[in-house]
Amino acid sequence: MLSEAAATSSTSTLSLEGLDDVEDFPWENEGESSMSWERYSHLYDLVQMGNKAFRENRLDEAINCYSRANNVKPGDPVILSNRCVAYIKFGEYLKNRPPSVSEYRPLSGLDPTTHAGLALKDAEKVMSMRTNSVTSYILKANALILLEKYDLARDVIYSGLQIDPLSNPLLNLERSTTSNINGRRNPGKPLRTDDFDCTLCLKLLYEPITTPCGHSFCRSCLFQSMDRSNRCPLCRTVLFISPRTCTISVTLNNIIQKNFPEEYAERKSEHESLTNPGVDLLPLFVMDVTLPCQKFQLNIFEPRYRLMVRRIMEGNRRMGMVIIDSATGSIADYACEVEITDCEPLPDGRFFLEVESRRRCHILRNWDQDGYRVAEVEWVQDIYPPEGTRERNDLQEMINRAAAYARQWMRRAQEVAHGDRIRLAELFKAEGMMPSTQDPERFSFWLTTLTNRRPSERLELLRIRDTQERLRRGLLYMKAEEQGCRLQ
Ligand SMILES: [Zn+2]
Ligand SMILES: [Zn+2]
Repeated sequence: MLSEAAATSSTSTLSLEGLDDVEDFPWENEGESSMSWERYSHLYDLVQMGNKAFRENRLDEAINCYSRANNVKPGDPVILSNRCVAYIKFGEYLKNRPPSVSEYRPLSGLDPTTHAGLALKDAEKVMSMRTNSVTSYILKANALILLEKYDLARDVIYSGLQIDPLSNPLLNLERSTTSNINGRRNPGKPLRTDDFDCTLCLKLLYEPITTPCGHSFCRSCLFQSMDRSNRCPLCRTVLFISPRTCTISVTLNNIIQKNFPEEYAERKSEHESLTNPGVDLLPLFVMDVTLPCQKFQLNIFEPRYRLMVRRIMEGNRRMGMVIIDSATGSIADYACEVEITDCEPLPDGRFFLEVESRRRCHILRNWDQDGYRVAEVEWVQDIYPPEGTRERNDLQEMINRAAAYARQWMRRAQEVAHGDRIRLAELFKAEGMMPSTQDPERFSFWLTTLTNRRPSERLELLRIRDTQERLRRGLLYMKAEEQGCRLQ
């Protein structure tokens, strides 16, 4: 029934490169074969019938014969290879059938993708049996092209060309897939026009949000713009949306992701590099010197820091706290990493943060990124005397004495602060943050946070890498403050 139509359809398209004919089944002499003569003869006839049907363009009949042959002798490379060629040719015919024919003669249940899929399975089996045959690469590449998997097809073609660099069918296939990939002439795919670009960053929309006024922007671009104004950047309509309540347009996102996968992947990694800058990169909040081992609250209202906080919250929740060094007028050489432990977005776009300072770092260089600073840092630690030495024991003893002193100091400070709720809360918080004496560096930093120090003194404490020196300073500050209290 299909033979007529198949015969009239063009079978000389480029993607059928190298698939002009099928192989004849080898005629084995009696006794050589592992199967009985009758069975072998039956098999031989089936393949010959299939080949005849194929050569006369009765492709469905050919497939049927090869499948029956495959039942008699499963896994034979000649049978599978022939069936694969028939599948591909038939799939190609179905794909290129003019609409008038398909309306006149509907073929239920037959579609090019199914045949391409079956062809691919056969091609892979043939390939595993005939590892050094270029033909199996030609089969697989043709099946992949029929499936419109041009990138995969090209990989197969290149592998095949390693076996035979002069294979004409492979070279022709290579040319046709390359033009398909470059020209994006894949039928059914929308052209990459600027319709899919964000009007704010002029790049492919990433995580698009469509506003009630019907305009689409990248989620991050829209909220960056809304940090300054609550109007649609395109038509100026007032928008009542926030990053928390707004969802990404799933359909639009899927269309973009499916049709422009490479560009989408690029946009994704771009976005991820902003939210997770890496271990040695730290976005900076330029405000004050922070010492490790502190807990405090921040109110973020500046547009550039709102953007920074949104990105940090999508990533590792960490940023650096740093001050402008009054001695140099530029960003200080040392900063402290803080972790956002609680982030409350306020309806007007501000953020209320609770943070804990973790570890200090040395700033190697810093640069502007969308209005805020990002720094390349190296993590710095105190240098301890080696374990087991007298110096190390001295340090540990000094820590233990300092810890005992700190406990008494805090008890006395609490008595003095009696009735002063704010001061008492501060002291209780500091007491709760007291680190183990087994971590000398952390402990020494904590000790220095018990008294209020000037920014320049705190910066100096960050620079010091001698734990004993920091302990000495901390104890000195505490004694001075206690004396000040008593004098009052
Ligand atoms: Zn954008
Ligand atoms: Zn609009």
